Amino acid sequence: MSKYFPVIGLEIHCQLATRTKMFCGCEVEVNTEPNKHVCPVCLGFPGAMPVPNKKAVEYAIRLGLALNCKIDLNAMWTRKNYFYPDLPKGYQITQTGGLPIYDHPICGKGWLDITLSDGTVRRIGITRIHMEEDAGKLIHDMSPTGSHFDANRCGTPLCEIVTEPDIRSPEEAVLTFKKIKQILEYTGVSHANMENGNIRCDGNISIRPSEDAPFGTRAEIKNLNSFTNLEKALTAEMLLQSVTLDAGHEVVQCTKRYDPNADKTTMIRSKEDAPDYKYFPEPDMVRLVTDPAFVEEIRRTLPELPDARRARFIKDYGVTEYDAQVLSDEHNVSEWFDQAAKTCKNPKMLANWVISELLRGVKELEGGFDAIKVQPEHLSRLVNIIEDGTINGKIAKQVFADMFATGKDPDAIVKEKGLVQITDSGAIEKVVRDVVAKNAGQFAEFKGGKVALKGFFVGQVMKNSGGKANPKMVNDILDRLAKE
Ligand code: ADP
Ligand code: MG
Ligand code: ZN
Repeated sequence: MSKYFPVIGLEIHCQLATRTKMFCGCEVEVNTEPNKHVCPVCLGFPGAMPVPNKKAVEYAIRLGLALNCKIDLNAMWTRKNYFYPDLPKGYQITQTGGLPIYDHPICGKGWLDITLSDGTVRRIGITRIHMEEDAGKLIHDMSPTGSHFDANRCGTPLCEIVTEPDIRSPEEAVLTFKKIKQILEYTGVSHANMENGNIRCDGNISIRPSEDAPFGTRAEIKNLNSFTNLEKALTAEMLLQSVTLDAGHEVVQCTKRYDPNADKTTMIRSKEDAPDYKYFPEPDMVRLVTDPAFVEEIRRTLPELPDARRARFIKDYGVTEYDAQVLSDEHNVSEWFDQAAKTCKNPKMLANWVISELLRGVKELEGGFDAIKVQPEHLSRLVNIIEDGTINGKIAKQVFADMFATGKDPDAIVKEKGLVQITDSGAIEKVVRDVVAKNAGQFAEFKGGKVALKGFFVGQVMKNSGGKANPKMVNDILDRLAKE
């Protein structure tokens, strides 16, 4: 097969974390009784008038600023008409419409940076971010009536983030999607929970024979709801397009879906069959005029973003680039670490504990990171009492296991179980001499130069002291006795 170079652009939809819907006062609540939160506005009764949710607008602007977008202070609403049983209104209020005169989304051009595995930073352009309302939900079951309709989701606020076709591989697409999810979490704009469908991604991909050739014809793959599926769908489509071109055929522009079981993309519709939404300016609303002072206030109160946080972890806490990456990857983990590190005498050691013990434990924990019982201050304290010699690293692991299971503080566990490290050299020497006496032959060999036996002696002493002897002191005493 010939070598081709992919060109990729993403469209990411996310649900905004507002309390109420986009154009009415109905509450946004998931997993509740069907049709509990409805009113004439979100059901589209004739004459009901929509009013934009200020919090949703604030969130969209906050997201735009976090993605370096230009904010349109005179944005516009358009009406996208289509019939589908999950849409009682028969139209959606949005901010797109194809024609340039309709194209005034709340956020214009921006960018974000992604860091590739080799450390290279790539800048991906953002074309625009627009706001719109979601449709309802159809529920199909085996009951005699078959399908049901739940309007709770009708009118919930969404943002759609569109990237420029700047992405050059499925891996870069995943990094871009991840970074956007991360920014949604850091800004609090969306819960960005993929399992709950708060965020999903459409991938557009075309291929070309060289890196400077004109762009090829693209396919759009809808509704990719995990990083793995995004990567696999793009890879499968790339392969399919390569085979198509190699066979001398042309790629036709179309909309597709990805079937993870078959690892294949299949066509939903071709460009010719694309629905005509008959867009026009939304007649029930005036333009969305935003006060520049409102934008400046949002800019001023923008929280620390992932890149800045990563840099600060390296600078203030002395952690490695890799550790900083892992610790800032998820917002809740980064908040937790930050809080713990503030009171820790050795944040670098703390980082190791979080990454190798805490996060490993979380993998097997039902409910994930949010379900952990360990308090940040407690892990910080554990590291501090290793640092000041109260307990050694080995005992610390035992204490940590208890902390992880019960949420108790380390001092209480150490006290309760009598785990304080033995640093009394006389007491340690007594144990060492005991072990030496019992293993006289091996000790003679050790003395004679068989250094590998040292581990055996240290191990025995640790065992006989219930793991509590200070390991450095054990080593020192053994060395001294060997020279006697
Ligand atoms: P539409 O509204 O039909 O989906 P857009 O112009 O909004 O069209 O583009 C949608 C996405 O397709 C964007 O993310 C853009 O970057 C991407 N895109 C555009 N042209 C190409 C191409 N030739 N190859 C791959 N992606 C493309
Ligand atoms: Mg599209
Ligand atoms: Zn409503």
